[in-house]
Amino acid sequence: MTAWKILLTDGLEENGVSVLRQSAQVDDRPGISADELLTIIGDYDALIVRGRTKVTQAVLDAGKNLKVVGRSGVGVDNIDLKAAKGCGVAVVNAPVATTLAVAELTFGMMLGMVREIPRADASMKAGKWLKKELEGSELYGKTLGIIGYGRIGAAVGRRAAAFDMKVVAYDPLLSADQIRERGADPASLDEVYQQADLITVHVPLTDQTRGMLGSEAFGKMKKGVRIVCAARGGVIDESALLAALESGQVAGAALDVFATEPPGDSALVKHARVIATPHVGAQTVEAQQRAAADISAEVLAALRGDPLRWKVA
Ligand code: NAD
Repeated sequence: MTAWKILLTDGLEENGVSVLRQSAQVDDRPGISADELLTIIGDYDALIVRGRTKVTQAVLDAGKNLKVVGRSGVGVDNIDLKAAKGCGVAVVNAPVATTLAVAELTFGMMLGMVREIPRADASMKAGKWLKKELEGSELYGKTLGIIGYGRIGAAVGRRAAAFDMKVVAYDPLLSADQIRERGADPASLDEVYQQADLITVHVPLTDQTRGMLGSEAFGKMKKGVRIVCAARGGVIDESALLAALESGQVAGAALDVFATEPPGDSALVKHARVIATPHVGAQTVEAQQRAAADISAEVLAALRGDPLRWKVA
């Protein structure tokens, strides 16, 4: 048996751990401190993290035997990709494992907003019966604008079609035909703003997308639009969103991600017409098991020198 050593620092579902153990020694150190990680990383051939562990230049420098860093999930914001490249360490992730979980949360948030499910539940728990006040609206017949029509965007689009919504999508990296093949009408960003009753964002955080939903964008949208974001904090300008909620330009927002996480004492989170969740998009049993299976196979492939499906750096 090969003497590979693999370190887990943010936990991993048992299905992934048992696959790794067939080929390697696996040490599980959930919650390990940054300092301790620096002292032990030199012993390991591979490191598997989620979003907590910061894989910095210092960690990569100290990882003298490190060949691969695996992210069980999608976001690699916590991994210094440039430093990894410089140190010759491959970075792999599990980008498809969590698609359905995020798409379903997005749908839950849309339904939660239009039917005011959180407020209805809170009122019942407070002993109230607000039947008359709690008149919502339907998704049926509404136009859903999707910004970023990749894996998650398209999965949301397919579900919206099943609800008889009209789906318009903006994605400058896809052709109009690719968007049509994925079941939406291609549109410019301005057309999405002008037509959509609800807008959901599924783009990565880049220089182009940072703050893309700001005061100018909200000003172009239909009055009373509803916004969903389960992509990345920073894509929405949070103070502009708060102002648009206060003015009534935006009727409601549902947010799973925040510019700072946790967001602390945030007026946006506390706003009566905001539904907020603590970045739980990928937090389903199924998604985490899929991610564990995918990342374990990918990390072992990297150690064996086999072709990689999801090499980020
Ligand atoms: P993906 O790469 O499949 O899709 C992203 C799409 O955005 C691509 O089609 C790309 O062309 C498009 N895009 C890039 N720049 C754009 C721009 N300026 N305007 C419009 N479109 C643009 O990624 P995905 O798997 O669908 O993930 C989408 C987002 O969801 C990512 O930000 C990811 O980090 C986030 N995510 C969040 C959670 C969560 O827990 N809430 C979990 C998984 C993924």
